[in-house]
Amino acid sequence: MRQKIRKTIIFISFLLFPITIWYFSPYLIIQAASEHIVNGSFIVFVSMLVLSMFFGRAWCGHLCPAGGVQECVLRINNKPSKQGGRNRIKYVLFIIWIIAVIVTFILGKNDVTIDPFYMTDHGISISGIYNYVIYYGVLLILVLPALIHGRRAACHYICWMAPFMVIGSTVGRWLHIPQLHIEAARDKCISCGKCSRACPMGLDVKQMVSEGINSKCTECIGCGACVDECPQRVLKYKMKWR
Ligand code: SF4
Ligand code: SF4
Repeated sequence: MRQKIRKTIIFISFLLFPITIWYFSPYLIIQAASEHIVNGSFIVFVSMLVLSMFFGRAWCGHLCPAGGVQECVLRINNKPSKQGGRNRIKYVLFIIWIIAVIVTFILGKNDVTIDPFYMTDHGISISGIYNYVIYYGVLLILVLPALIHGRRAACHYICWMAPFMVIGSTVGRWLHIPQLHIEAARDKCISCGKCSRACPMGLDVKQMVSEGINSKCTECIGCGACVDECPQRVLKYKMKWR
């Protein structure tokens, strides 16, 4: 039941993507920086960073529209996406992008102002027919990796938002802030592998449980599919000091 609710919410978030897309835009933050404007996507990204100190990557698993469209693609390609070096691509892109935002801000003009609805039409992102070209272009960038490489490949390889949450949750752990995570009672595991098959991120959850590292995995989005699938109740959500 919990997974049905989660999937419904994340699918609705995808349906609302034409309204919300500018609030996740890596480009508009640069354009706004050149005018010294704190725009919607700046506010959203900072919120992600702060909230992930307490909730890890729960955003990705429960509310992200980019995750929603990729979970639809699971019906076409359900193979686990390869982990490892490819996961680092998103950090390289992230560093280049953040440097671009900072340099643009330094070179920018005007007094600093806050405009959460920057470049929207009464808060709505896609208000003109030409904006749909950008919208479908972004969808293609998200869908193609998942179509070719498998489960939520765009989250693993190219997502520009994931690093904010990886940084936030890592800082949260360093500061010993009570943080939502998934704990495993390793001794109860019967190595059935149901958790790995259920994981929408294609993670080898069974292996992580046997090594006792699942609560520290930065690719885990806290969706709870493994928790709900485990017949031995090995895995549990926990919100506590670590
Ligand atoms: S390990 Fe579990 S909680 Fe994390 S992404 Fe996979 S199924 Fe979801
Ligand atoms: S589903 Fe549960 S019992 Fe099966 S491998 Fe995963 S943690 Fe172990």
